[in-house]
Amino acid sequence: MPGTLTFDALKKLVKEGSVDTVLACLVDMQGRLMGKRFHAVNFVETSYKETHCCNYLLATDLEMATPDGFASTSWQSGYGDYVMQPDLDTIRPVPWLDGTVMVLCDVLDHDTHSPVPHSPRAMLKKQIARLKELGFDAMMATELEFFLFEQSFDAIRKGGYRDLTPISGYNEDYNILQTTKEENVMRPLRNHLFAAGLPIENSKGEAEAGQEELNIRYSAALDCADYHTIAKHAVKEIAWQQGHAASFLPKWHKDRVGSSSHVHQSLWKDGKPMFVDGDDALGTSELMRHYMAGLIAYAPEYTYFLAPYVNSYKRFAKGTFAPTKTVWSVDNRTAGFRLCGAGTKGVRVECRIGGSDLNPYLAQAVMLAAGIKGIEDKMELAPPTRGDAYGKSDAVDIPQTLRAATETLRGSTFLREVLGDDVVTHYTRAAEWEQEEFDRVVTDWEIARGFERA
Ligand code: ADP
Repeated sequence: MPGTLTFDALKKLVKEGSVDTVLACLVDMQGRLMGKRFHAVNFVETSYKETHCCNYLLATDLEMATPDGFASTSWQSGYGDYVMQPDLDTIRPVPWLDGTVMVLCDVLDHDTHSPVPHSPRAMLKKQIARLKELGFDAMMATELEFFLFEQSFDAIRKGGYRDLTPISGYNEDYNILQTTKEENVMRPLRNHLFAAGLPIENSKGEAEAGQEELNIRYSAALDCADYHTIAKHAVKEIAWQQGHAASFLPKWHKDRVGSSSHVHQSLWKDGKPMFVDGDDALGTSELMRHYMAGLIAYAPEYTYFLAPYVNSYKRFAKGTFAPTKTVWSVDNRTAGFRLCGAGTKGVRVECRIGGSDLNPYLAQAVMLAAGIKGIEDKMELAPPTRGDAYGKSDAVDIPQTLRAATETLRGSTFLREVLGDDVVTHYTRAAEWEQEEFDRVVTDWEIARGFERA
């Protein structure tokens, strides 16, 4: 793991007085960093071994509610502790904060010290280990799309999330002039993340006013998920430092383009790409075709992990570059899965289903599991879709609502087998709760539509 600081190097920096704060963070179900800010002396003397947190952190929602129905924790069981065990291979500077470093923690059971099965990092590690047993390593890249707004988070919240003004006035796709105007956020973002050890490739304007994309070079799956999580966190903090808000909501306005997080995937062995085969017309190996077949066949069952909220499903619409069908195609952005780099050694599959709100550990874990299943069962890949995939009436739909995705998740014997029954039940409850919370709300739309006219 390429953390950029060894524990010994950290101890030296603390002794010199250049580091005074250590952020010890776990990744929650929503893909957020949660944890504590340690005085660095305490961390290097004792807390580097372990610290503790309330176990509701992996059974809550975006607003830190305490929903019922989770077997792992409850008011009945008294909401006890988990162990947060710093992964000392992930110590890295946080260059946008003074004197601060960060370490990611694994989440362990308080009594047995075994990994908590529904913790996102543990879920991804499990699938990486299964793949390793087959002799392969996964290389992944997750794109980060988000919007920057003129106003700050505080101003927007106090204004009731109305009158949001994107930081630019027009579609800024690949636009250098407009993105120059946003360099007060984007330049420190690229440079600070690079200094934190993330292999930043580039940022670019995206296809809507105020929309940005950040690309990080592909890397081993766990690193990729760590990078994504740290980068998403940095986007919000650096935007905040500059007096702006950044949002990863997949669809913040019905008339604006949504934000996604495409996931590029390839399998390697001993440092060599195994998806490549010079004899095939597209340069793909049999291994790649089996992997893709699994990925596509199980997509409806794992969509929840790519689109975990009610809002996530507002993104899936015809003619928007967000897919609606679980088909694949060659370098065609209308399908759920796109073959990229055909005929080159960079040949890979890009899943286009995920929204900018996905948790990268969960998304990668379920897609690896589906790909492994495709390999194990030698699943046949159907021919590619050509033309506009939105119009393919015979193709399987991506679940269109959180409710539908919750039911495919609940009923997935495949996911219950590979993730564990308890894990699927846990996330099904999280999905149900999200829907229950939404169903209680009377929306502005209903009032405006029916108040007088109904
Ligand atoms: P695009 O034009 O779609 O943005 P890029 O060439 O920028 O395509 O690549 C998109 C992402 O795919 C990048 O983050 C890159 O690191 C990643 N990528 C490139 N090759 C591979 C590979 N073999 N496996 C996984 N990801 C890869």
